[in-house]
Amino acid sequence: MKIFVLNCGSSSLKYQLFDMQDESVIASGKVERIGMEDAILTHEPTDKEEVKLVTEILDHTTAIEKVFDFLVDPKHGVIKNVTEIEAVGHRVVHGGEVFSDSVKVDGQVKAAIKGTFDLAPLHNPANLVGIEAVETVLPNVPNVAVFDTAFHQTMPQNAFMYALPRILYKKHKIRRYGFHGTSHKYVCMKAAEFLNKPLEQLKIVSCHIGNGASVTAVNKGQSIDTSMGMTPLEGLMMGTRSGDIDPAIIPFVMDKEDLTLNEVNSMLNKHSGLLGVSGIGSDMRDIEENMETNENAKLAFDMYEYRIRKYIGAYAAAMDGIDVLIFTAGVGENSNLLRKAITDHLSYLGVEIDDEINNTRSKQIRRISTPESKVEVLVVPTNEELMIARDTLRIVKSSK
Ligand code: AMP
Repeated sequence: MKIFVLNCGSSSLKYQLFDMQDESVIASGKVERIGMEDAILTHEPTDKEEVKLVTEILDHTTAIEKVFDFLVDPKHGVIKNVTEIEAVGHRVVHGGEVFSDSVKVDGQVKAAIKGTFDLAPLHNPANLVGIEAVETVLPNVPNVAVFDTAFHQTMPQNAFMYALPRILYKKHKIRRYGFHGTSHKYVCMKAAEFLNKPLEQLKIVSCHIGNGASVTAVNKGQSIDTSMGMTPLEGLMMGTRSGDIDPAIIPFVMDKEDLTLNEVNSMLNKHSGLLGVSGIGSDMRDIEENMETNENAKLAFDMYEYRIRKYIGAYAAAMDGIDVLIFTAGVGENSNLLRKAITDHLSYLGVEIDDEINNTRSKQIRRISTPESKVEVLVVPTNEELMIARDTLRIVKSSK
């Protein structure tokens, strides 16, 4: 069975085509600058040469038509006919309180996704455009929506409510939703499989540390708390996002710097985090390279590490213990320096890592804790697209 996974942004999209028999990726690619005369389509068939097309692509439907043309192209294609695609899985950022699992798309589901536009104005409209574009191009193929927030719908109310007037929750659904759910779920399942233990018996703290970053407490397979909130701005310090700040800073800085709401929003989302503190950049590799000679880079690294460590401690407290600590995503999978800096301060939890294994590069899941460590510390490469493909298969099968 072939499953097409689509991640649609407002002017770009990314795709992967999976053969679910062995869960292999047979082609992947992206379209950038949708809406422009010089849009760029990059198509990467796994066993053939990559191809790049620069052409006018004015909307998502055209972009998807062109992608499907490449998928069946005699030279660059990987399938004979688009009818081989049996289902399409869509990454949808926000599922609000409506979706606690992935779902087959129908009119009601689309209306509910529209109902969450207020909560994710940059992402959800583009995600819905992607769904409707596929409906146009492949009218008889089932679409499945997989939500970044769904995994966190198990959080108890004392974790997801903000201490604001209750009416705001009732009127506007202001609460913690959490994100990166597909990734947290995937790495926790992988960890349990690797340790050969039932997920239902484990207390896991999952650290998804990429350009965006979040920590989740997963107790017996269920998310019980997570660091991102109503939006992906809360929690950890990130590449360009501030993470937690005193909310009173916002009116203060608006007054002192004469900023509009849009400007302050942009400051918190695009000019803060590693970039804002270091003045160097948002990429952890640049921070690490400059850390010894540039005190701002060193401070950015120390703040970044310290915040992750605080959340790990908080979530160990939330679960009354911790069995497994997971590092995943771009920084979590690759930065041995960050993992070392964090775990060196977790000895009170019984965490002990093997420096040699931690310093070894690998694309495989691996244990970096010593046999004596009371907590299993794992580096688990995330794979959100595969998780979307698996969910799509599960939902399509169960709806037959
Ligand atoms: P992601 O959002 O998961 O794609 O992660 C992107 C982040 O991973 C970027 O900020 C990169 O700097 C970071 N990253 C990738 N490779 C490394 C590395 N070798 N060391 C530190 N950070 C890395």
